[in-house]
Amino acid sequence: MSQKQKTIKKPITVSGVGLHTGAKVNLTFKPAPENHWYKFVRTDIEGSPVIDVDAFNVVDTSRGTTLQQNGARISTTEHALAALVGLELDNVIIEVDGPEVPIMDGSSSPFVEALLSVGFEEQAADREVYILNEVLSYEEPSRNVEMLAVPSPEYRITVMVDYNSPVLGTQHAQLHKIEEFQKDFGPCRTFCFLHELETLVKHDLIKGGDLNNAIVVVDREISQEKLDELAKLFNKPRVEVKEKGILNNVQLHFQNEPARHKLLDIVGDFALVGMPFQGHILAARPGHAANVEFAKVI
Ligand SMILES: [Zn+2]
Repeated sequence: MSQKQKTIKKPITVSGVGLHTGAKVNLTFKPAPENHWYKFVRTDIEGSPVIDVDAFNVVDTSRGTTLQQNGARISTTEHALAALVGLELDNVIIEVDGPEVPIMDGSSSPFVEALLSVGFEEQAADREVYILNEVLSYEEPSRNVEMLAVPSPEYRITVMVDYNSPVLGTQHAQLHKIEEFQKDFGPCRTFCFLHELETLVKHDLIKGGDLNNAIVVVDREISQEKLDELAKLFNKPRVEVKEKGILNNVQLHFQNEPARHKLLDIVGDFALVGMPFQGHILAARPGHAANVEFAKVI
């Protein structure tokens, strides 16, 4: 029984700001022909250069996954790509009029909702899936990262994170089949540690982060005075550390939302394999760098 390829019925635009540039950016998903997979198009650059979603086009993984091809770059690609994979779409053009994908609420949900709102269309070509038939592994000993992919009748992912942080502790998350993505993983937002946030703000590396698009983990003591400073920076009347060391800028959707977000990032980064993937990925302390290297191995 072969499945057919799918695209969306018509274009749909999502607007927001870039996390790092703080500039407004519009992203438009457009229907694409059979066997196209996903490609970004930078419509703000002359000639509208195309950037293939391919692991070998990755040029930076320090804060999100950045792709570059044909002289153009696109950053923070992973949450939009996770939405496409999570909805099992095969062919989509992603037009962006700026250097990064809008961060939205830090999850995949705004992209998922936009895509669902226009509906899908089955195409004539059969869906080709990369079916893993051997065991593959990847290790990054310096960061304690371990990834393993084993054959499986479904696309499954098991993630374990352990940040040596009393707040997060050890968390794990599991996706048993891709149909679970939309509800159980799509809404899970990115997270950062408060000490990282301070550094990012100081070095001007975070602008679109208005404290609504990240879970902030407070893993060391901080004075209310410092928090008041942060509140001012982020245009909030007041921020507080709630029990369990999570800043009260957002409410957690799931107790293990950080681990679930790491799983979402893997779904997005594995779009870089270039086609739908079938296998079970087991990941301990994954990050964008490891995800991309592993996607290259595959
Ligand atoms: Zn992410």
